[in-house]
Amino acid sequence: MPILSVTGLSKTYASGHQALKTIDLEINKGEIFALLGPNGAGKTTLIGIICGLVGPSTGTVTVDGLDIRSDYRAARARIGLVPQEMTIDVFETVWDTVSFSRGLFGKPKNPEFVEQVLRDLSLWDKRKSKLRELSGGMKRRVLIAKALAHEPDIVFLDEPTAGVDVELRREMWDMVNGLRARGVTIILTTHYIEEAEEMADRIGVINKGELILIEEKHALLAKLGSTTVTVGLSEATATIPESLSGLGLTASEDGLTLSYVSHGESGTIGIADLVRQFDRAGIAIKTIDMKRSSLEDIFVDLVEDKA
Ligand code: ATP
Repeated sequence: MPILSVTGLSKTYASGHQALKTIDLEINKGEIFALLGPNGAGKTTLIGIICGLVGPSTGTVTVDGLDIRSDYRAARARIGLVPQEMTIDVFETVWDTVSFSRGLFGKPKNPEFVEQVLRDLSLWDKRKSKLRELSGGMKRRVLIAKALAHEPDIVFLDEPTAGVDVELRREMWDMVNGLRARGVTIILTTHYIEEAEEMADRIGVINKGELILIEEKHALLAKLGSTTVTVGLSEATATIPESLSGLGLTASEDGLTLSYVSHGESGTIGIADLVRQFDRAGIAIKTIDMKRSSLEDIFVDLVEDKA
């Protein structure tokens, strides 16, 4: 059974703007799902509805079998939400904020657990600091600690690394991997495709309120990805030998490199095969360079197609 089911969800704001068309989505327990989309695509709206903060116009959301509207408290207690922005009392201490968050969801006090969360996020030394005394990066960590304090099964990270430095981004990725290792399900939204490529098991692309693609990451790269293979030659060749015509090679102007693009994950032929074919054709290879298309290339193509 999926841990999260979204069925026939749509949202039209009071302004008349339709932020979500019809969204159907199932998330499996323990997976990392990355939701990608350009600004205004509807990511925050979708998360808001799933977490019960925004009412949908149509459709239902169930969390671990519980309806987010009719069974709000129990369903919400399974979710940890790391929002984009601070909504916390700046005069409180880190310790109090995070401990209070745990109580809010009806969990009994557990100082050892809270301590562990703070230690994992490098916040332990700051536990007595007031939030207003913290740097932006530290505040971001507090938001995460708050979201984890009640031991949720599903964690939403809305743009977790927008505007953070490289070091904190790395730490976030480590933290996400740590949660995954404990079986926590993670849904993250991001503009940074590199982040999805690094972490996600599955990827959804949302554009103009529509989920235009949901795919396992490796399958996506295999299906839509391509590899450009460039072969550097020891001597310039004026013509491409007949025996190599099946590869669809194109020669550079100076005749010193031949290249081709192969679609799919591993390319149409392997390197060993390529070397053999060149050898037979009597062409000496100097270098071979392979460049895979990234998720970013695929994403840009997708969103542009639908624009
Ligand atoms: P971003 O990456 O910029 O945060 P997003 O994908 O999260 O974008 P949403 O914040 O969900 O997008 O917004 C989707 C659309 O709905 C946008 O056009 C936005 O202007 C609109 N919208 C969001 N909240 C409201 C609201 N309360 N009332 C009216 N329109 C809204």
